[in-house]
Amino acid sequence: MSFENLNLHPHILKAIVDSGYTTPTPIQEQAIPELLAGHDIMASAQTGTGKTAAFMLPALHRLATPSKTHSRGPRILVLTPTRELALQVSDAATKYGKYLPRIKVVSILGGMPYPLQNKLLSQPVDILVATPGRLIDHIQRGRINFSRLEMLVLDEADRMLDMGFIDDVEKIASAIPTDHQTLLFSATLDSNITKVAARLLKSPKRIQIATQQAKLDNIEQRLHYVDDLSHKNRLLDHLLRDMELKQAIVFTATKRDADTLADNLSAQGHVASALHGDMNQRERTRTLTNLRHGKLRVLVATDVAARGIDVVGITHVINFDLPKFAEDYVHRIGRTGRAGASGIAVSFASGKDSIHLKKIERFTGHRIVSHVVPGLEPRHKPRFDSTNTPRATPSIARKRSRSHSWSNNDSNGRSFSGANGNHSNSSSNSRSRSFSNDDNRGNLIKNGNSSPYARTK
Ligand code: AMP
Repeated sequence: MSFENLNLHPHILKAIVDSGYTTPTPIQEQAIPELLAGHDIMASAQTGTGKTAAFMLPALHRLATPSKTHSRGPRILVLTPTRELALQVSDAATKYGKYLPRIKVVSILGGMPYPLQNKLLSQPVDILVATPGRLIDHIQRGRINFSRLEMLVLDEADRMLDMGFIDDVEKIASAIPTDHQTLLFSATLDSNITKVAARLLKSPKRIQIATQQAKLDNIEQRLHYVDDLSHKNRLLDHLLRDMELKQAIVFTATKRDADTLADNLSAQGHVASALHGDMNQRERTRTLTNLRHGKLRVLVATDVAARGIDVVGITHVINFDLPKFAEDYVHRIGRTGRAGASGIAVSFASGKDSIHLKKIERFTGHRIVSHVVPGLEPRHKPRFDSTNTPRATPSIARKRSRSHSWSNNDSNGRSFSGANGNHSNSSSNSRSRSFSNDDNRGNLIKNGNSSPYARTK
């Protein structure tokens, strides 16, 4: 199928050509005809599948025909869990709507000054992209007229549910006229999401796109066993000195850890910055702009802050701390391998992470192969698999030269509950065995290959 077959407005098709897209992605191919036919949809599709265009193109198609209702209020409302995702949706609206006359896109996000938002909302708005909390404030102050609203999009609804925004979302939905189209996008369509959909959507068409496994095919997943924080820091420094690493997102468990790690990395000569929810909007926008423009090589981020980041230059995602929820793992590693590129996802795991690790592997259906960097081997290999055989551990050549340091000039370059009772045995068995350096010596690369991941077999 081509975009021409989708019956979108010619001005939209022109913008698609400019974007370099030749064929619709599966979510676009399935969702766009349903949306143009006026149906509500609930779709399982993650970031990276082209879901933004899947709803934005039909939304813009509506806007090509003037509204019959005289109002300044928005015709399209997109709710997102995070500010970053909202900004990306706004950018996509501007990009795909550039040949349509006078499409006014407004973002209403928490952390931004009210006076500016009040001014934006006093003018005509076509597409309003908002995080739920701040939007509720404006609705309660009577600043938004929803009389001409035609489409409500709930983007990453699972995340809004996880983050406790769903009451706000339902309040917003109850404040708008009932004759609009509602679209719900979510990484998974589990029972909680289905309940939300049952309350907010009318006879929705259900669209299910690619399994987690298929989605991750272009991302090589690697595991490094670690002993302690110092071991993690040394490994991270080593990985970041890989010349093949163009840009990386390093995930930490807490905001404070993100700040500390970014400072430490900067002190080691890496071009690194933190991104988390305690930063004000200006700082966050500046950091993301630097990342997009290649001026920032290493972004140290928390889950929420990094959700939805779409930067093609990100070659590596490093889980300095494993995520608490298996689903976050998928979201994290999906920050690399964007737009068809390949990517590398490295996870650090210590003995106490074994249950998290198992949940992640069960969720993705993919066993993560462990790697070692000679000279930086873990003192203990924390676990064996369920058959009590050691994990395959390819050896990795450690780069000999550590003199290279990155400077600014180089910068271009859920809950998955299910208590998992059978794990503890294998894990305690594994801890009692030490992991000998001899396992690796025979595999050391001797040819000076610059990649620390070059395998010898
Ligand atoms: P999303 O899932 O909306 O985060 O989109 C992921 C990436 O895919 C973005 O960089 C889009 O620009 C890109 N994209 C969206 N639709 C297409 C398409 N039909 N062909 C190629 N790339 C696309």
